[in-house]
Amino acid sequence: MDICSIASGSSGNCIYVGTDHCHLMVDAGISGKRIENGLNSIGLKTAEIDGILVTHEHSDHIGGLGVVTRKYGLPVYATKETIDAILHTRSIGKVEESLFHPIEPDMDFSIGDITIKPFSISHDAANPVAYVMENGSKKVAVATDMGKYDDYIVDKLQGLDVLLLEANHDIRMLQAGSYPYPLKRRILGEKGHLSNEASGQLLGKVLHDNMKKVILGHLSKENNYAQLAYETVRLEVTMGDNPYDGSDFPIVVAKRDEVTDLVNV
Ligand SMILES: [Zn+2]
Ligand SMILES: [Zn+2]
Repeated sequence: MDICSIASGSSGNCIYVGTDHCHLMVDAGISGKRIENGLNSIGLKTAEIDGILVTHEHSDHIGGLGVVTRKYGLPVYATKETIDAILHTRSIGKVEESLFHPIEPDMDFSIGDITIKPFSISHDAANPVAYVMENGSKKVAVATDMGKYDDYIVDKLQGLDVLLLEANHDIRMLQAGSYPYPLKRRILGEKGHLSNEASGQLLGKVLHDNMKKVILGHLSKENNYAQLAYETVRLEVTMGDNPYDGSDFPIVVAKRDEVTDLVNV
């Protein structure tokens, strides 16, 4: 299986996950042009995408969805509530309703040779999900936009080869920063985003000897930076109640506007 981040951050998200025979995207929150350029850089075209898995209707996840569905007629998978919210989002323009396929949390489905396992996340959207994707014995996940994690989430993220995990903000930077108070409260709340600290704590609960790579993503532009996310997550793993040191696993930080190296497992 291959996974790579085409874009990740509060300003736009698009993650490629695929095999030799099936090519998927998780979210399409950047322009159609950036999606095409990103896919080109890993030897693919948008027209070759077999499906778009949407996590939720916030603009940083669906900004390019209108363009790519109109241009390429790509099928879109999301919960019924997310689909309703997308169809009511004027900014993405007219979309063909028949391209949308409703899915449910905890109900596995397949596209080509990939089994997709959507699970619920705590976020201020209609009925948001994150995705675990499997091909044979290989298993990857994209888990962002989570205000909190619990045993259910920890359970869903067991046994992964690659995890793209949210490390959204540094709590002190956010508290001291320029965001208005209600927005700070939203981000810090149970339906907001995972801080670097919480991300590292969650990671400590899902690490295992065969985890091949961790990609930190969905960093806030205002309230975080790559080195801080990286160091904080590693420190939390090292200090946490788990057998590992933060340096035991390759951890990379996905860039807001650059394609990360393709990870193959
Ligand atoms: Zn969101
Ligand atoms: Zn988001």
